[in-house]
Amino acid sequence: MTASRTVRADVLVVGGGMAGAMAALSARAAGCEVALVRCAPGATALSSGAVGVAPDLSALPGDPLSWRRGPVESARRLARQRPGHPYAAVGEGLVLLPDALDFAVRALDPLLAPVLERPRFLATATGEVVAAATCQRAAEPGDLLAVAGPLAVAGLRGHLGFDAALVADGLGRHAGRGGPEVRELEVDLPGLDPWARPHELARALEPPGEAERLGERLRAALANGARGAAAVLLPPVLGLSPAARVPERVAAAAGVPVAETLSDVPSVPGLRLQAALEARLARAGVTVLAGELRAAGGAPGDRVEVGEAVILAGSWVLATGRFVGGGLVRHGALAERAMGLPVEAAEGRDAGVHLSGRPATSLTVRDRRAPQPLLSAGLRVDPSLRPLDGRGRPVHPRLFAAGALVGGHEHASDGTGLGVAILTGWLAGRAAAARG
Ligand SMILES: Cc1cc2nc3c(=O)[nH]c(=O)nc-3n(C[C@H](O)[C@H](O)[C@H](O)COP(=O)(O)OP(=O)(O)OC[C@H]3O[C@@H](n4cnc5c(N)ncnc54)[C@H](O)[C@@H]3O)c2cc1C
Repeated sequence: MTASRTVRADVLVVGGGMAGAMAALSARAAGCEVALVRCAPGATALSSGAVGVAPDLSALPGDPLSWRRGPVESARRLARQRPGHPYAAVGEGLVLLPDALDFAVRALDPLLAPVLERPRFLATATGEVVAAATCQRAAEPGDLLAVAGPLAVAGLRGHLGFDAALVADGLGRHAGRGGPEVRELEVDLPGLDPWARPHELARALEPPGEAERLGERLRAALANGARGAAAVLLPPVLGLSPAARVPERVAAAAGVPVAETLSDVPSVPGLRLQAALEARLARAGVTVLAGELRAAGGAPGDRVEVGEAVILAGSWVLATGRFVGGGLVRHGALAERAMGLPVEAAEGRDAGVHLSGRPATSLTVRDRRAPQPLLSAGLRVDPSLRPLDGRGRPVHPRLFAAGALVGGHEHASDGTGLGVAILTGWLAGRAAAARG
């Protein structure tokens, strides 16, 4: 295909998930012209609605309500204990974590609840409790420490994707240990399609009158079965667009605060987050292009073709994610897809590019709770987030990496996924802006 459009920018960001969006927005806030290319939604669009920053490593295993430390303090401790983690790799940059989180909350306003000094304790759609730095506002009133009385878990009769009894049973185990008392109820919503997928249900609640109808049904169900409930927990389908204000409208009609649980995949909160990032990029004046960057042998400052455009930018930020996003691929061995950069894996005390050259199947261990070298593989970076070559030198002075593509953390499961994407994205965007 012949390129028909030339885009000149100070900074090119590759990847449209949380890390790429934060990089683009922070470079833009520093006054740069920014182009962002992305081929598809990645892991960000699958995330549950919680924003994990760092686990409290001193909490009791299996007892999330025993988390005491706030996210920033937990991230500092994690960096000290795990020298390969991105929070350690950024060195002094970790001091800026509160600024990066604040930037993300403000950039995505009104999507995210503010970060508190303590974790938020959130219910999953299977009745587990997850501690996280923050969450979407749609989940905020369900923070177990913020519920000032009994909590009602409400299923929608006929909606097969949510089992209120299972959730109530799971949460009930934390009652008396810091969690609220839990009740279960079911709401009749005539016309509900039992086969509707979560995003279809979420859209169906957005038009005027629909959220209110659910709220009125909820009010009636509460009067019958859960009088005195201080908050209601619903399935994670409370609208796709924050602008539709579905939770607020349901709550106003029900007469009680309502929240959604966190979600499995496919995830309405994940799709909501992805849509909010894209809307924010457009408002900020970032040039967003669809297409895949293939630049093996290329470098910042080179002309690159993406779809029908030729892009010329002085600095590049790679935020292409890991296996879900497409930043890393497995062809027997592990490879970084866009530029062919060296991938590092770590096993026990042994780390390096040679491990990633092994067959991917040899990088998993049988005990699924043990660290999995395959799942924490990625690029190694210097404190400015520049990818390093096999001998530990920056590949290029104006090439940066962010998010799940950076190795040393298990982004889908270690409780630091979106936190790493926010911090490294924000820092990489600033660094790229300074050198663009
Ligand atoms: C199922 C699942 C659930 C999760 N839930 C949570 C959660 O609840 N809370 C939490 O904190 N973390 C969660 N995580 C982790 C978190 O989602 C990720 O760490 C984070 O979203 C990574 O963001 P990212 O921007 O680095 O990558 P991604 O969101 O994967 O984005 C990568 C982007 O790069 C693009 N791309 C890739 N290659 C190219 C190329 N060559 N050219 C152009 N574009 C390219 C992709 O199209 C995509 O847009 C979850 C992860 C998974 C997999």
